[in-house]
Amino acid sequence: MFVDEVQIELSAGDGGKGMATFRREKYVPHGGPNGGDGGHGGSIVLKADHNLTTLLDFRYQKKYHAQRGEDGSKKDMFGKNGSDLILKAPIGTVVTNLETGELVADLNRDGQTVVLAKGGIGGRGNAHFATSTHQAPKFAELGEPGEQFQLQLELKLLADVGLIGFPNVGKSTLISSVSAARPKIAPYPFTTLVPHLGVIRVDVERNFVMADIPGIIEGASEGAGLGHQFLRHISRARILVHILDVGGVSGRNPIDDFDIINHELEAYNPNLLLLPQFVALNKIDMISDSESLDPLETLLLSRGYPVYRISAATHAGLPHLVFDLMLKLESIREQDYKNNPPPSDEMVIFKASKEIDSHWEAVKRSEGLFEVTGKDIERRVAMTDVKNEEALRRLQKHMDRIGITNMLKSLGAKHGNTVIIRATEFDYQDEDQMYCELGDRIENRTRRK
Ligand code: GDP
Ligand code: MG
Repeated sequence: MFVDEVQIELSAGDGGKGMATFRREKYVPHGGPNGGDGGHGGSIVLKADHNLTTLLDFRYQKKYHAQRGEDGSKKDMFGKNGSDLILKAPIGTVVTNLETGELVADLNRDGQTVVLAKGGIGGRGNAHFATSTHQAPKFAELGEPGEQFQLQLELKLLADVGLIGFPNVGKSTLISSVSAARPKIAPYPFTTLVPHLGVIRVDVERNFVMADIPGIIEGASEGAGLGHQFLRHISRARILVHILDVGGVSGRNPIDDFDIINHELEAYNPNLLLLPQFVALNKIDMISDSESLDPLETLLLSRGYPVYRISAATHAGLPHLVFDLMLKLESIREQDYKNNPPPSDEMVIFKASKEIDSHWEAVKRSEGLFEVTGKDIERRVAMTDVKNEEALRRLQKHMDRIGITNMLKSLGAKHGNTVIIRATEFDYQDEDQMYCELGDRIENRTRRK
């Protein structure tokens, strides 16, 4: 198995500062406190994307920062929340915390998102701190710092494209010429040979993995050579590139080579022959008379194979081959996606930071329901008389304070949605939305009149 591995550093946005200001009114010497709250810092979110197959982008950028929240200002003006930073990773990415070794996330479904680092909560302005005995608080809270983590992302790579061909046709050279990164290769038992592997970057959003299968020679399917380990590996590939040496020095006839290799594949697993196979005629830099390739090309085309003339050494013809492979892969992935669509309602899990661990652990969404778990919040719910409005309001305040309300909001909770905490169901109350609805209703009523 091939492993792509990167280490990244994240800093979520800090919360903005709360403001300590006072109303100025002409005839009131000491107006009331009116400092607004700071905005919340942006979080850093990882999202599984079926279009990606590698962690290549994280090799180019290793440090990520989300925006901080704006400070509050006078006249009860709230600071703006920092926007979240959304990073995309392939399905199958596993995230671990480098310091603690703790598993942070395991992306196994398309669209699944995980908050890797939470933005800090905005500080409250002094308006919050006025009490009957202390009517003019001159202080406000600072913003909470955003979470910072060093994480390791790891992905077990499956080759999208498998290279087949006799030894010395140029498989390794081709991979070296087109690839942007060499992932780690786990040790293969019983052999000193390792497959070559490369991540091919077509553009910022598109990449694929190519692997060769050294030692696929006559008899490999019966266990001669190195056969099986590698054959098993390409059995997951979606496209095969069959390389033929047309440089003429091997002394063999390219079409004989072609048939021998395909017999090997068939003997190992007939399904392999069902994969689209591109044929690359390699080492064209060595031949002066390019027309001499026409008969071979015509023969292969007549058998239904797309043919590319390349030189792995001089790079001639490589961009064309890579581009066509990418297009074909995309249409295959698109088809896979249609045949096997991800569930429409994604689940999102928030891992709580150390500081708020004691309050709650996770907020999840699935199938339109929201569930909050964690010892403290569950105990509180258990001790709350939910039929008593005042008690309920107190609980709501507590949930606001420890950040659950915000988490629900960022998961897309809408006013009236069901939130489950320890077998107790609540309606999610969003005051902003409530006022909107109220406004609509009033408007409708006036219109009817
Ligand atoms: P593999 O066994 O299929 O992996 O083949 P290699 O990539 O190791 O290549 C075998 C030999 O062919 C090496 O000496 C390469 O330098 C040479 N070679 C590979 N591609 C080309 C090419 O396009 N042109 C020329 N002239 N030589 C090539
Ligand atoms: Mg090789």
